[in-house]
Amino acid sequence: MGVPDWMRMTAAVLERDRDRLNRLDADIGDGDHGANMARGFAAVVARMDGAPEDHPATELRAVGMTLLSTVGGAAGPLYGSFFIGMATALREAGPEPELGAPEWAAALSAAVAGVQRRGRAEPGDKTMVDALVPAREALDAAAADGASLADGLRAAAEAAERGALETIPLVARKGRASYLGERSAGHLDPGAASSALLLRAAAEAWG
Ligand code: ADP
Ligand code: MG
Ligand code: MG
Repeated sequence: MGVPDWMRMTAAVLERDRDRLNRLDADIGDGDHGANMARGFAAVVARMDGAPEDHPATELRAVGMTLLSTVGGAAGPLYGSFFIGMATALREAGPEPELGAPEWAAALSAAVAGVQRRGRAEPGDKTMVDALVPAREALDAAAADGASLADGLRAAAEAAERGALETIPLVARKGRASYLGERSAGHLDPGAASSALLLRAAAEAWG
């Protein structure tokens, strides 16, 4: 299992959940998050289909560049930074890295750092960071315990799903939803929801 499988599974769930993500975004934004994400990951998969297997860092960098140019909005540059950060960390893992829990944990850390460098959101701001930071913490803890990659990614996906649900009562402090002020409370953040889908797909791809 590798990056192309992960991307195919992600594209499939984003297509499946496209309307749900659009509706979540319609509640506190402009209603395009599902369409943005489905379009971006469809482009990722189209670019990967038929391409020979490559170093995961090369594949992840191409994913990031494709998302940067196809997703648009706030999420495009943020998910672009996620995958480019991941690629940079895995490049340091050697010419033919074995993707285990420690390598994936280092890559996810760099990915989340990339998102936060780009968007300046902290946990509690009601963004994708509220799903990604708990996922990073869960995978770090699993790797430190010597857990398998499959178990680590499952823990990360669960943490992301919990983190996404925990955005519901929050007041948005970043992105378009922050324009609503207190009225953003009571809604699930769409970017946190898509980040949880991305990590659940990883748990399935490497599970
Ligand atoms: P847009 O708001 O431009 O239409 P999308 O709808 O595709 O973009 O994405 C909205 C999502 O982007 C939000 O739900 C939120 O999770 C995320 N987001 C917005 N701004 C930031 C930020 N500064 N840092 C992290 N995530 C952010
Ligand atoms: Mg939007
Ligand atoms: Mg938009």
